[in-house]
Order: sequence, then C-alpha cells, then structure tokens
Amino acid sequence: MKTVRWKIDVRGVVQGVGFRPFVYNAAAMFKLAGSVFNSKKGVEIEIEGSDAACQRFLTHLEKQPPPLARIDHVASAQIEPKGETGFTIVTSHPEGAEVPLISKDWDVCADCLREMMDPADRRHRYPFINCTNCGPRYTLITKAPYDRPYTSMAGFPMCTDCQREYDDPTNRRFHAQPNACPVCGPRLKLRGAAWEDIACADHIGETARLLREGKILAIKGVGGYHFACDARNGGAVEALRERKMRKEKPLAVMSNSIEDIAAYADLTGPQKDVLLSRKKPIVLVNKKNETALAEGIAPGLREFGVFLPYTPVQHLLFAAGAPAALVMTSGNISDEPIVFTEEEMEERLGGIADYYLTHNRPIVWRCDDPVIRIAGTHAMILRRSRGFVPVPVKLAKEVARPILACGGDLKNVFCLAKGENAFLGPHIGDLVNAEANRNFHESIEHFKGLFGIVPELAAVDMHPGYQSSAYGRRLGLPVVEVQHHHAHIAAVMLENKLKGEVIGVALDGTGYGPDGTIWGSEILACSYAKFQRLGHFPALKLPGGDKAAKEPWRVAAALLYETFGESFKELFPAFVATVGEKKIDGITGMVDTGINCPVSTGAGRWFDAVASILMVQQVNAFEGQAPMMLESIADPSEDGVFPFGIGEDGALQFDHMVRELACMGETEAGRDAGAAKFHNTIALAAADSCVRARNITGLNDVCLGGGSFQNALLLKKLEPLLMERGFKIFLPQQVPVNDGGLALGQIAVAMSIK
Ligand code: ZN
Ligand code: ZN
Ligand code: FE
Repeated sequence: MKTVRWKIDVRGVVQGVGFRPFVYNAAAMFKLAGSVFNSKKGVEIEIEGSDAACQRFLTHLEKQPPPLARIDHVASAQIEPKGETGFTIVTSHPEGAEVPLISKDWDVCADCLREMMDPADRRHRYPFINCTNCGPRYTLITKAPYDRPYTSMAGFPMCTDCQREYDDPTNRRFHAQPNACPVCGPRLKLRGAAWEDIACADHIGETARLLREGKILAIKGVGGYHFACDARNGGAVEALRERKMRKEKPLAVMSNSIEDIAAYADLTGPQKDVLLSRKKPIVLVNKKNETALAEGIAPGLREFGVFLPYTPVQHLLFAAGAPAALVMTSGNISDEPIVFTEEEMEERLGGIADYYLTHNRPIVWRCDDPVIRIAGTHAMILRRSRGFVPVPVKLAKEVARPILACGGDLKNVFCLAKGENAFLGPHIGDLVNAEANRNFHESIEHFKGLFGIVPELAAVDMHPGYQSSAYGRRLGLPVVEVQHHHAHIAAVMLENKLKGEVIGVALDGTGYGPDGTIWGSEILACSYAKFQRLGHFPALKLPGGDKAAKEPWRVAAALLYETFGESFKELFPAFVATVGEKKIDGITGMVDTGINCPVSTGAGRWFDAVASILMVQQVNAFEGQAPMMLESIADPSEDGVFPFGIGEDGALQFDHMVRELACMGETEAGRDAGAAKFHNTIALAAADSCVRARNITGLNDVCLGGGSFQNALLLKKLEPLLMERGFKIFLPQQVPVNDGGLALGQIAVAMSIK
C-alpha cells in the first residue's frame, strides 16, 4: 500500500472552536499520522497514510466540521511523505501571527446542559459551565489570539481537574479557554437594592423566588445585564417600565421551552426553528388574544419579542421555578447602551432593580440580544448582535486597503473591512444619545485593536449633520461620501454577490439626497460605484423638521391641508378633534410660510401620515410604532388598490389615495380596509416603478433595501407582484435591511472607488 502525505490549509472561524481536537480525533479514526497547528490565518494540517484514508479524512473535514467552526476555504496539496507514525497537536501560537477570526458567543450546548442537570456531575448546577462547543467568546476576549490569558478568565487559574480536561485532546474541553468548575471558576453573587451583599446558599433558588414574588432583578448575562421580572405580573411590568423609562416599546419575554411560549403566542413553523437555533435570538411573534401576560408587555400591539434561554444561569433559573414567562429586557435606561459592568450598574442604573444577580467573570465588551422577524420564508435580521458578532461577512474580493464605514446615526452599526473580511460591529443604537455616541467611538477602537485593523479610508453617509459622518471626516483619512439609499442597495448587492447594475427599491425612513432634500423612497438604477434616481414617492412636508418623525399627526395635517385646502378642517372634524385645532393651525402656518418645513420622500413618513389620517396612531412613542400599528390592523381579506399615477420623471402621485384614505378613518372597518389598501398600493406602485425602470435600463435584478422592508406585510405583497412581472428579487441575508446594514453598503461603495 502506497503512503501519501497531504498538507491542508483551512481558513475561516477555526480557532477556539475545537478544531484541532476534531482533527486529532479524525486522524485517529482514519489511522493517519501527522500534525495540526493554528497558523497565521487559520489551521494547518498534515496527514500521512493510505490514499483512501486521506481522501476519507478530507471528506470528513468538509462534510462534518465541528459545530462552531465556519470553514471559508480548504486548500490541500500532496507533499513528500515523512514516514511519521503518531499524530501531534502543536499547541504554540505562531510568531507574529496575523489576527485569526474570533468566534461569536454561543448558547450552552446539550452536553453541558446534561452535565449541569446531573446531580452526579462535578459541575451539577454550575452556572459557568462551558466547553469547546459552547459558551461566550467575543464578549470575554480582551485581545487576540484567543488564549486564556487574553480573556476575562485570566484571573481564574484552573484546578487540576479542569487542567486535565484542558490538556486532553480527546476531551470536549481540550483548550476550551473559558473552562471552569465550582472549585476554580467564577461565582454568582446576589445583591440588594443598595448594592449590599446578600448571603445565601442557593443564589439561583433565591433569585427564582424573588422573581415569583414580583421583584425586579438585574441579571448579568453574556453581553450585558438584563432586567427581569414576571411577565404575568402587571404591577412588576409597570414598575419596570417606569424605572427604565421605557414607555410603550414592547418588552421581550423569555420562556423555558417552545411549549411555554406557545401558551401565550401564536408560533409558526419557521418561527419555532429560528427560536431553537443556536443563536437563540429574540423572535418577533404575535401575542394570543387571551393570555396570562400583563397588558403592559406590548401595549396596543400584538407583536412582541420572545426567546429561549441560552446561558446556564437562565436554564438554572427556570429549573428552579422562575416564572414561566420572564421579561428579559436590556439592562439600560431608555435608548442608552446595554450596561455590562458592575460599576455602571451600581452607579448609573442603581434604583431600577430590587435585586442584582451578578458574578465575578468580567464582560469585556457589551453585546445585545439579536432580533429577528420572520416574513414569509425570510428570517429578517432586525438587530445583528450576540450570536453574529464578530464573525465577518465574506467579501467577493479583498479590499485594496482597510476601510472603516461609519454607518448612519440611527440603529448605528459600523464596519471595518480588511482583506476579504467585513467585520460589522455590534448594535450601537441611536447616536443622538450621548452614551450611545460614546459607545460608538469606544467600540470602533475596541474592534480596531481586536482585529489589528488600521483603516486607511473612511466611508460615511453624505448627510451633513450625521455625527457618525462627522466622526469619519475627522479622522484625517481619505473620505468616501455615500448616499444613504445607494448604501442600502449596495449592501444587498454585495451580500448576494451581484455585479454590474441592478434596480434598487429603497423604501426607508430618511436619507440625505445629493440635491439637499431628504430622500426616503427611491427607485434607483445602480452599480457599486454609481447610482441614478429613476423614481420616488411623492415628497411630504415635515412641519417642525425632526419633530415630524416623532409626531405623525404633523405630516398628516400638512398632507390634508395640501390636498383639500383650508376646508379640510370642516371635512374631517374627527381628525381635527383628535389632534386639537390649535396644534393644526400651527402646522398650516408652517406649510404656508415654508419655515421649519423640510420635504421628504421617506416611505416611513408615508406610513406615519396614513396611520395618523386613519386615526390609528398620532405619536411615535418609539421608532416605527405608527407603521407597526398600521401593519397590524390591515384587513387580510382586503386586496383592493387605490388609484395612483407615475409622472414623466418617475415621481409617484398619491393624491387620489390621500383623498380616499381621508374618508376611511371614522370606522374600524374603514381603518382596517384603508390600512390594507395602503399596503397594497405601495407594493403595486413599487412594482410598476420597477417595470418603468426596466423599460429605461433593461435591468431585471431588483434589490430591496431600507427600513420599511422590516414590514412583513409590505414584503408579502410586493414579492409576488415583482415575480409576476418577471423580476429576480434580492434581499439582505446576513445584515439588517434597516440602517443596521448601512455600513456594509458603504464598504461596498468605497471598494468600488479607485
Ligand atoms: Zn458545552
Ligand atoms: Zn476547575
Ligand atoms: Fe435607512
């Protein structure tokens, strides 16, 4: 039998995920000699044995890699056999290594759960159990390479039992950097309202009891604190909302199983699959009509977020009798970043929780829970954070030089690109918030350090007033200014590896247009480098500027005034009474003079205006509230469409629609029908605009981007219309369709500029 030797170079997320023990065990299984070690960019393997065994090894490597690994490339070549016998794992780190990819945080695995629940196991009920196949990574790494001294486990020397596991290539905990046990590892601590230590033998049991009693707890998790309380206790939920200054935005609820969630929410098959997936995201679902949940979980809305436990602590709490439905909301006030250190919790958020379940394993960097909404067969990522970060999006080609893309000012996510990787940062939030702004600066520095990236080019939104753009322009680097909706479409193109030109349908809130007005609903023909505006929604007046986005009635009043003239107040007394006549007079004054009254083509503003005209919602207590309400009341049996026009320049004309809608707000049936017909009309107007764009350009690929596509009903209506017309549709897969995906589009545009 002829002996052969192969050298195999594996790239991707292959370090810190149990890759070398996997290779070691595979080599043993196929009776191969050789070695494996962590290389500069991944893992390098040499195997020696029979040709057939080597082939089987290669197949095994590609078909059944360890669960946490993500293989991007395998390059293999035959080399001279060395006549070796054993197989060795070379454990030293390569000198001057380039930074390898860092794994994301993982939910506790089934093997660890089984051990944790086994009274005979030495980690029975140990809240920091983990192994190579599970546990935190990104949130405890201080610097690369991923090695215990460079993690927040550095202060916990392993006991002999843990060390033995760590050193044994056949053990599930071989080189599991956060490996720990009750003897040597981190411990829980319970604190009272004044941050005083509460001595207790069973922290978990005591916490579960306090939650049952209706207390509010701050619980330290993987990427920050959660505030928790019994979701069925109206008083506790109200108290939490008040203390956290979160008025109406739905609160996320965690339960121990799909069955427990199904007691209060209607779940579809795809929703269940995503809930159970290892990212354990918050999934938006519809509340059942009759549930035990407190009304305050999602006031006035059916849709709210649910998720399953993903940390050992969460599993233990449910096992110890915590309420079956637990509010688990980010540990922050209002729109501030999630708090992840003891100091901040004590100093800044003291007074919110009645008790604190905390621990002494430091969180190095914050990372919120991810949020996903299922629209038909698409799992739309609304917030890309824990479970995604910092695994990069693969680029089709290497960037010529490292780029920092600053994203936008709302739902900010930045992106650093180097080589063939685009590293998107975690969810930062809205930069108008001073703390979020600080988090933006600090997180960029953290990421630059972690991946050793020194940007040589900055890509920013062309908005003259964005703080994110101002940051990028201050760096002293060459700057690429990117139009907001071009970035939305370019992100979709990049993700779907499209080349050349496409038709882009950007239905969005607001974005600065090169003509100095606010754009928002654009039909574009674009490549990565260039774009052309082929159509748009009619412009709306925004009396009061930024205030108009928070108070939809302003836009509605201006629209009614423009459509019907002064007489609209007599025609629609109910609307006038709801808003108040005095406020309306202020608006007509602004429309007449044009002072503090910018115009915008934003779809978000159209949804706002229609929600107000139909008297569904007059004020947005949180971003997107009015559009969400409008979507939720739309009558599913209504398939009618309002008449609309398309002008010579591609501008849509919605006057008829406004006239008809204005008369539908007085009855519930009218509102529900009006909401549905509005969605239908927007979808048809977008589809017809694409046909017009195809007639001009000959293009047939349509990319959908922008925040309005978070609206599942809109997507559900638009997709079949585009398909009937023979278009090929592309949506984002790995990044949010909202401004959370903007930075990736900015990278795409910047890459195309020579
Ligand atoms: Zn595990
Ligand atoms: Zn130990
Ligand atoms: Fe946007």
